[in-house]
Amino acid sequence: MSIDKEESVKKLFTAESAKVDTNKGDTFYDDLYLQCQKRIEDLRKLEPLNNRMDFTQSIEDQGLERRDFLKWASATTAMLMLPASFTPLVAEAAVLMNRVPVVWVELSDCAGNSEALLRSDGPQIDEIILDIISLEFHETLQAASGHQAEKQMDEAMEHFHGKYLLFVEGAIPLGMNGQYGTIGAKAETFVDHLHRAAEGAAAVVAVGSCATFGGIPAAAPNPTDAVGVMDVVKGKPIINIPACPANPSNMVGVILHFVLTGSIPELDSLLRPK
Ligand code: SF4
Repeated sequence: MSIDKEESVKKLFTAESAKVDTNKGDTFYDDLYLQCQKRIEDLRKLEPLNNRMDFTQSIEDQGLERRDFLKWASATTAMLMLPASFTPLVAEAAVLMNRVPVVWVELSDCAGNSEALLRSDGPQIDEIILDIISLEFHETLQAASGHQAEKQMDEAMEHFHGKYLLFVEGAIPLGMNGQYGTIGAKAETFVDHLHRAAEGAAAVVAVGSCATFGGIPAAAPNPTDAVGVMDVVKGKPIINIPACPANPSNMVGVILHFVLTGSIPELDSLLRPK
């Protein structure tokens, strides 16, 4: 590698390169820093919801060094549009991600976003983090099925009421009173299923083009009258992460932002994280 190239790769992961051009002013970031610090302290006092894996151990098991993790934290801090001084807090938030429950439902979808979540193209920090998060319910990934799965979802929604992040994959068919898509022993329509899951969520994250804007199920002539989450769920913070499938780094970014700040990221007019 030439010296110039080596220098530019090095710069990619230095605090200097992670500087974010913000115009919110020092006071805003000083206050936010204190708020994040307090949140981290509070999260540290909570028991991990997912005891399956130890973060530090997982990094070592994958042959990664702490330095790799800190490089990732620096780049992620920039991605979250935070100043470089937040890097240690972002690193700590990643370790504490198993304190925030996540519920994942699938509607009119192909499970491609779940596949992306499970991508296995090499040991990357994002993948380790996705192993660490507390996925309380995921129809495809969990071992339970049938009545057991329904019970698991009900328990997760009750136990973590008001606290969980709800991830939604797939569009919602509204035609024929929602009968194009039903789930469970009671044949609950997807639209009712979504309303029920969203009711106790702290925020709803629509992943993939189908969940955000209707995607393939809503393509003309849209025989099932499929729509995206934001056309169904009202009165809850909604974050759209489009693309087919959605990028796992963006999913991690949203969870991390929520863990770190206790709020959702800034959104554009289409509810996508800026
Ligand atoms: S956005 Fe793409 S990957 Fe995701 S459910 Fe739709 S078709 Fe599948």
